[in-house]
Amino acid sequence: MDRIGIHVMVNGRPDVAALERLVGEIAPSLGFNWVIAEINGHFRYSSHPEAAEADPIEAEDAGRLAKTARDSGVSLVPMYNCLGHQSWREKPGALLRAHPEFNEAPDLDATAEGFYCASWCPSHPDVNPLVFDLFDELIDAFEASAFHVGMDEVFIIGHCPRCRDTSNADLFAKAVNDYHGHLVGGRGVEMMVWGDRLLDARSMGYGLWESSENDTHPAVDRVPTDIVMCDWHYENMDDFPSVSFFQEKGFRVWPAGWNKEKSIRKLVEVARRDATPKMLGYMATTWADLNGIVAGLAGESTDPKSERLPGIIAGVQLGAKLAQG
Ligand SMILES: [Zn+2]
Repeated sequence: MDRIGIHVMVNGRPDVAALERLVGEIAPSLGFNWVIAEINGHFRYSSHPEAAEADPIEAEDAGRLAKTARDSGVSLVPMYNCLGHQSWREKPGALLRAHPEFNEAPDLDATAEGFYCASWCPSHPDVNPLVFDLFDELIDAFEASAFHVGMDEVFIIGHCPRCRDTSNADLFAKAVNDYHGHLVGGRGVEMMVWGDRLLDARSMGYGLWESSENDTHPAVDRVPTDIVMCDWHYENMDDFPSVSFFQEKGFRVWPAGWNKEKSIRKLVEVARRDATPKMLGYMATTWADLNGIVAGLAGESTDPKSERLPGIIAGVQLGAKLAQG
C-alpha cells in the first residue's frame, strides 16, 4: 500500500509539540508516510483574524512542522472542515461565531435533542471568498501539496431560502466543485474529501453516519474524479462495497478505519482484495486528544480517565501493521 496515513485533530498551540513529535518521530517509526492534520479554526489567520479560535497555531509553527515532515519523509496535509461541522451542537466554531450570517439554519434549535452540528450555507455569496483565503493560508504555511476539505456527516443542507429549491445532491456537488476549482484549478494541490455523503445508504448497507440518507449521494456523478475519496468506515461489516464503488466511478480511494479490531482487519482485507491502481492504502483515524494519542503511540502512560484511548491507540497500531503486511 502506497499511502499509510494517520488523521489527527489539532486543537491549537497546546498540540503543536505533540504534532511535531508525531510527524518527525512517531509516525515514521510506525510506518506512516502521511499525516492529515485537521486544523479548522486553530490557526492564526492573518487574512481573517476573526476566523481563529483561541491560542491558535502560528504560521512559524506550521513552517517548522512542514520542514520536520519533509525531513522525515512524511506528507503533511492540512484539513479545514467545510460545509458541515461548523458547530458542536449549540457551540459554534470561530467561523460561525464571527459570521453567523453563514449559518444554513439559524432558525433550528441547536440545543434540541438530535441536533448534531451546524452547517454553513454553500450558496451564501460571501462564504467561499472568505474560506478560500483560509485554505490559501494553510497551504502556504504548511507548504502543502494536498488539502483535505472534510465534508463528512453533513446533515443540515438545503434548509435556507437560498438553498431550499435546489436538490441536496446539487448543493453538495456545487460545494465540492467550488472547492475543487480553487484548490486543484487555482492552487494545483490535490483535494481530499471524506466520502460518506457520496454513498447511498440504501444500496451500500451503511448507516446514516457512514453514508447518505439525505439524498446527497447522486453528487458522486457530478464532481471531478481527480478528488481523493477518504472512505471511512468504523462499524463491523461483512463487506465494504464503497471501496470498489469509488474506484469504479474513477476516483482514487483511501479507506480509513478507527478503533474496532474486526472492522479494521476486514477493511484492510477488502482494500487489498478490491485494489486497482486507484486504491491508495489505509488511513488510521483517532478522534481523541492528540497529546494522549502521541503519548500512547510512544508507549508512554496515558490519562487513565480516557477509557477509549487504549482502543484507539491499538487501532492505529494495528492498521499500520496490516497496511504494511
Ligand atoms: Zn443555504
